[in-house]
Amino acid sequence: ISAAEQAVLDEIEEQEVDFLRLQFTDILGTVKNVAVPARQAEKAFTEGIYFDGSSIEGFVRIQESDMRLVPDPDTFAILPWRNCEDGCSARMICDVYDTSTDEPFEGDPRRVLKRALERAAEMGYTVNAAPEPEFFLFEEDEDGRATTETNDAGGYFDLAPKDLASDVRRDIIYGLEEMGFEVEASHHEVAEGQHEINFTYDDALSTADNVATFRTVVRAIAAEHEYHATFMPKPIPKINGSGMHTHISLFTDDGENAFHDESDEFDLSETARSFLAGVLEHAPAITAVANPTVNSYKRLVPGYEAPVYVAWSDRNRSSLIRKPAARVPAASRIELRSPDPSCNPYLAIAVMIHAGLEGIENDLECPDPVRENIYEFDEETREEYGIETLPSNLGDAVDALEADDVIYEALGDHVAPKFVEAKRQEFEEYLVDVSQWELDRYLETF
Ligand code: GLU
Ligand code: MG
Ligand code: MG
Repeated sequence: ISAAEQAVLDEIEEQEVDFLRLQFTDILGTVKNVAVPARQAEKAFTEGIYFDGSSIEGFVRIQESDMRLVPDPDTFAILPWRNCEDGCSARMICDVYDTSTDEPFEGDPRRVLKRALERAAEMGYTVNAAPEPEFFLFEEDEDGRATTETNDAGGYFDLAPKDLASDVRRDIIYGLEEMGFEVEASHHEVAEGQHEINFTYDDALSTADNVATFRTVVRAIAAEHEYHATFMPKPIPKINGSGMHTHISLFTDDGENAFHDESDEFDLSETARSFLAGVLEHAPAITAVANPTVNSYKRLVPGYEAPVYVAWSDRNRSSLIRKPAARVPAASRIELRSPDPSCNPYLAIAVMIHAGLEGIENDLECPDPVRENIYEFDEETREEYGIETLPSNLGDAVDALEADDVIYEALGDHVAPKFVEAKRQEFEEYLVDVSQWELDRYLETF
């Protein structure tokens, strides 16, 4: 047993933890838990905990269903919303192993991200990432079901008393901090009832773990206040949706930011420019992973600060990639603005990394930034600038994914076909549905 594992065992003892939730995610990004009594912690480290993988979305076929969870001791955290009077719960994030080969299971999204990080490491880089998840807080109805009534009429950076949810947000932040998050900023977003909490950048794996945890914590604490927190990308038409901008940078083995070059107009190194070019090149396929729901495409429309066009800029928010101003060299990074918080963070970050590394490997040339508001360009101007458009629906995005070997392979032989199959089915279900909009529009007209 390692020192880190022993430290967890001591902590369990000291804090009188009763239950351990062993956490992992399925391909769709849903957090799954297996709860075990805390006294099984040692066994979990040494032998792992067996579970039936056939019931998990996209994991395995029924006939080969035994999986093993091995907790990562670095991810131990006591859950803040459990009242410790009747025993505390803690969680650890796990790697999934295939019991037939005893190798890491290729269908585990965390494994997919680790493979991307291994590729980066072979090229001499570590990857840092930071997300900006946005979400809505909605009222619950009498039966405790979510509504789309916002609980306040605040706007961007508004303070109390309009921002009634600031209490809830404050509790959410306390909860996150108790779990070891370093919250950098939190504010009311542009739309009514919409919030954003940023946490400090970390290595890409920890960041993906954090996002998975974040959604659980936010929903649980909001629920304690009788609010429903949703990460659905576009719950209300005609106002801003919720994004999860993702900042990314590469560091060299000696701790230098490989994206920084102060002699460059935008402080971007050649490495950063090629990485950026790689992400632009693979943007359509990345969209399937970073924007994986039917509803994601209701957000990616002009006029609501969400990207639609494949371009980059150092300032404007209509572009897909932004280069944020950096005060110190370590902060040079690029911000991909397409991801939304319904994505599987492990897969989304993994495909971004592969796209960027591919750009570096192939010395891709970075196009010029576009500093005008692209929403206002007509088709002709876009053509003149060579600006492409992101897929406009889930079906097109999945087509783009299937056509892009780099991104398809980034997901791997297990996840890629399962993901495509699940998403095609989701899109087809949507296509045959008859929506409220159609009834409103046509029922009495025809
Ligand atoms: N809510 C916007 C989106 O859908 C982003 C607003 C912002 O720039 O933070 O991406
Ligand atoms: Mg924001
Ligand atoms: Mg942002």
